[in-house]
Amino acid sequence: MKKSVLITGAAGFIGSHLSERFLKEGYAVLGVDNFLTGREQNLAEASKHPDFRFEKADVTERFDFRNPFGGKFSWVFHFACPASPIDFETLAQEILEVDSKGTLNALEFAKKEGASFFLASTSEVYGDPLVHPQQEEYWGNVSSIGPRSCYDETKRFSEAAVMVYHRKYGLDTRIVRIFNTYGPRMRLNDGRVVPELCSQALRGKKLTIHGDGSQTRSFCFVSDLVEGIFQMTKTKEHLPINLGNPVELTVNEFAKLVQELAGSAPGIDYLPGRPDDPRRRCPDISKARRLLQWEPRVPVKEGLRQTIEAFRKEL
Ligand code: NAD
Repeated sequence: MKKSVLITGAAGFIGSHLSERFLKEGYAVLGVDNFLTGREQNLAEASKHPDFRFEKADVTERFDFRNPFGGKFSWVFHFACPASPIDFETLAQEILEVDSKGTLNALEFAKKEGASFFLASTSEVYGDPLVHPQQEEYWGNVSSIGPRSCYDETKRFSEAAVMVYHRKYGLDTRIVRIFNTYGPRMRLNDGRVVPELCSQALRGKKLTIHGDGSQTRSFCFVSDLVEGIFQMTKTKEHLPINLGNPVELTVNEFAKLVQELAGSAPGIDYLPGRPDDPRRRCPDISKARRLLQWEPRVPVKEGLRQTIEAFRKEL
């Protein structure tokens, strides 16, 4: 019998790429999603595969999935959660629930199933960091009452919940702290820097930057992230691991690259900065290098070219 995995958030940007990777590695995959921010079209590739099944469900309401492939799941990947700045405003309640009830439901299911558990956490747990680059040991600088707190505080709660299930029940767990990731299948209108700038450039509009553009971001291409996640399943490290690209670019530098690759240059409009938008965010990936022999391979220019091509088709 094939090994099988359950992936929540499978119709989302990262979840859909992760599903395809596990199918490629010979696993059977049950994808679960309620299409809150995910899209059916993201599952087009995975759905062609005979070992892929999908259930539409809200994981905050139910987590009683039967393994359609027989036997027990070997992994539960909890990736369901809206993740863009726009979602922090419009889906705050849904985020609170999926990162609390949803995480507890997923952990309880993994415990009953005897499955290993994998949490998609985030660099947002470091808040507006006072330490650069951020190592996993850094506890962060997070506002519990700010506009992003529905996301960063509940991811911190999810990490705490995972550690409780690991310590109390001996659950085999992993926590990945994902830094800004980009690639095909991001939503064009999700307000994150990459789709926002790309869609403006492809529409021949002026690019808009929040703040003065000197804030830095580090962008990791989705195939690199998925490779790191896959390598994490082979380790026994239960404490968090950062996965991201340590090459920092200012948002201004990134905007210029977008203009160059998308072939339009009508200029840049600067808007007021977003509240609580971190000035710098850059992962220290020494732990991933040491434990997983992992580091990003896809240069930003190449990843961005593929992303712009996908957005161009969508538009
Ligand atoms: P996404 O919005 O594309 O995917 C999230 C998916 O979860 C969507 O398909 C959505 O419909 C689904 N979902 C949300 N609530 C649900 C619920 N209650 N029940 C079932 N499904 C539900 O976002 P993404 O960028 O693919 O992010 C995936 C995970 O990675 C998230 O946990 C996010 O916090 C984390 N992450 C992403 C990034 C990034 O740069 N993309 C960075 C850090 C962390």
